[in-house]
Amino acid sequence: LSKVIRKFEKLKTVSELAASISHEVRNPLTVTRGFIQLLRDPNLTEEEKKLYINFSMEALDKAEATITDYLTFAKPSLDHVERLDLKKELDYIANIINPFAEINNVMIECQNDMNIYITGGKQQFHQCLINLIKNGIESMPDGGKMHIHLQKINEKAVITVTDTGMGMTDEQMEQLGTPYYTTKVKGTGLGTMVMYNSVKAMQGEIKVESEVGRGTRFSLFFPVTEH
Ligand code: ADP
Ligand code: MG
Repeated sequence: LSKVIRKFEKLKTVSELAASISHEVRNPLTVTRGFIQLLRDPNLTEEEKKLYINFSMEALDKAEATITDYLTFAKPSLDHVERLDLKKELDYIANIINPFAEINNVMIECQNDMNIYITGGKQQFHQCLINLIKNGIESMPDGGKMHIHLQKINEKAVITVTDTGMGMTDEQMEQLGTPYYTTKVKGTGLGTMVMYNSVKAMQGEIKVESEVGRGTRFSLFFPVTEH
């Protein structure tokens, strides 16, 4: 069983988003600051010290994850729109993500032998694909295979990212793109939302097919730019 979902209605405006993201980073920093202040107390037991340090580390990890999902490639709003060679950009992205894939025992096969051009922000495109591929890798905790495929179908550039991971239920698929929706202990729930925003900005569409226990395929469709 698979299901197709195409929706953008859950997206927030850019300014709402920026405000809420900055809160997501600032909040753990404030928490960490509080615990460091507590650590100044010379009468703390070893147990207490350990606890405060662990809380601080967790909060910092949270801030870092938020930055990874949202800000790795700088501010999308400042990204200038240009012609993107998808073959070249996918090679670049595969290179960046490969170390992360290897750590997780995931083999990435990237089939992108055609020069297909679209128009969009380069950094926004990178952020979008990295978030998408990262989710796929994270859905395969015991390793597995990921297939990335670039094609031209009916005058659309089509990028499919297929994983052999845990898949999603229909309910989970309905939630994709909703800010802060996550099923992961250390998740941000920002990855897919950022991705849906970027695709929308590039006049693209997203199709999701998933089956629990078998895997997920995301397909991104973009209008082709003539060169
Ligand atoms: P995060 O990765 O921090 O949880 P995302 O917005 O990137 O946040 O993803 C939201 C949720 O969507 C994930 O927690 C997961 O439940 C689900 N998800 C996204 N991509 C996949 C995938 N390829 N396979 C299984 N579940 C996925
Ligand atoms: Mg993610």
